[in-house]
Amino acid sequence: MARYVGPKCKICRRETEKLFLRGSRCYTDKCAFTRRGYPPGTHGRVGRRKLTSYATQLREKQKVKAIYGILEQQFRITYALATRMPGNTGENLLVLLERRLDSVIYQLGMASSRTQARQLVRHGHILVNGKKVNIPSCLVKIGQEIKLIEKQKKNPAVLRALEERDLERITGWLKLDRESISGSVLRYPKRDDITMPIQESLIVEFYSK
Ligand code: SF4
Repeated sequence: MARYVGPKCKICRRETEKLFLRGSRCYTDKCAFTRRGYPPGTHGRVGRRKLTSYATQLREKQKVKAIYGILEQQFRITYALATRMPGNTGENLLVLLERRLDSVIYQLGMASSRTQARQLVRHGHILVNGKKVNIPSCLVKIGQEIKLIEKQKKNPAVLRALEERDLERITGWLKLDRESISGSVLRYPKRDDITMPIQESLIVEFYSK
C-alpha cells in the first residue's frame, strides 16, 4: 500500500500545528515547528489569508490523513465504512482510524511514531492472537492480544520507544504488559479517548458535498 514518503515536518508547518509524526524528536527543541512555526515556502512568514470554508474542511481532512499516515484512497474507503455504521459518521471515522493495527502499536508505545509502528507491522514483527499480521490497516477487535514476535523483543528502537512512553499516555481502551511487550484490546475507543485536536465534523462536511 502506498504511503507518503516526503518530509513530515513540512506537514506540521503547513497545518500550523504539531502533529507528532516523528516520534521522540517531536518532544525536543529539534522540532521544526517549534523552531519555525509558520508555513513552509517563500510566503510562509507573511501569514495565511483567511481560509474559505472549503479550504478549512480540506485542511482538516489532510491533517487527519497525515496523522494516521494514510493516502486519499484508503481514507475514502474508511470514510465509506464509517457512513455505513450506526451513530455519528465523524466519530465512527476516528474510531476506525484508531483501531488500525499500526495505530494500536503506536498507542501501546511499542513504536515512537505511527510510521515506525507501520514498519513493524509490514515487516511481519507483530502477532495478533498468535498469528502474524502484516497489514497495517487491519482493524483490531475487543479481546485480541497484540504482541511482538520473540526476535523483536530486544529491538533497541522498540525498547527505547517503550522506555520513553509515559504510561499515562496509554489510552484507556488498551492495556499494555511491559514485561511481555504485549497489549490487549479492552473495548473499542470512544471519541474522548482521541486527544489530537481534530474537528471531524469538517471532514464529514467535506465529503458530503
Ligand atoms: Fe511535527 Fe514532529 Fe516534525 Fe515537530 S518534529 S514538526 S511535531 S513531525
